[in-house]
Amino acid sequence: MQNYDDIKREVLDSARWLAEHGYLGRLSSGGNISVRVPGEKNIAITPSGRTYFSLELNDICVIDFDRNPIAGSLAPSIEAGMHIGVYRHRSDVNAVIHTHQPFASTLSIINKPIPALFDEISVEIGHEVDIVPYAFSGSAELVDNVTGKLGNACHCYVIQNHGALSLGADLPRAMRNSELLETVARIYCQALATGEKIQMLPKSAIEHFAEMRKLRFK
Ligand SMILES: [Zn+2]
Repeated sequence: MQNYDDIKREVLDSARWLAEHGYLGRLSSGGNISVRVPGEKNIAITPSGRTYFSLELNDICVIDFDRNPIAGSLAPSIEAGMHIGVYRHRSDVNAVIHTHQPFASTLSIINKPIPALFDEISVEIGHEVDIVPYAFSGSAELVDNVTGKLGNACHCYVIQNHGALSLGADLPRAMRNSELLETVARIYCQALATGEKIQMLPKSAIEHFAEMRKLRFK
């Protein structure tokens, strides 16, 4: 059997960083992380219901796209179907991070998509962080709701009354997108709280960055 230690280490280290920095629970689980195994129809994913600081390397699960276990003895995250749905629909994505990060989650309860506000975000994440409609955690309906939004080619989404979803061509880029999302969500929440008019990027800038993304993420 292939040794998945390197990819499991990558998932474990990222989960601990996200927990340490408030994106996942420290004393609870609250989120999940996965990476597509190169050249295989398998993913490495965090297990269900375990705190991230208690995890060891072999607690990271490797499963196939039908959720059959390939390596590891723990049950995979209940959101494994959502992760697999992303990999099935987006060949450009090789890492998926689902968190309950606070500012993106704030927008999830007021149903506010994040519009184009900054150059960097528009290039890295896309023209809008859209809202995925609510469904029970771990349900087939939530998988359908997520995959129904993936056609906009963006790298971040807010899940209504739940949390955030950040994607990347690899785990470092998905991590960076998760952090960028939290930064822009915090700024947007603060701006909304002022009650003042929000200044969007000009239409010409949005179009320019959309063209850049087509070249960069084709
Ligand atoms: Zn969740």
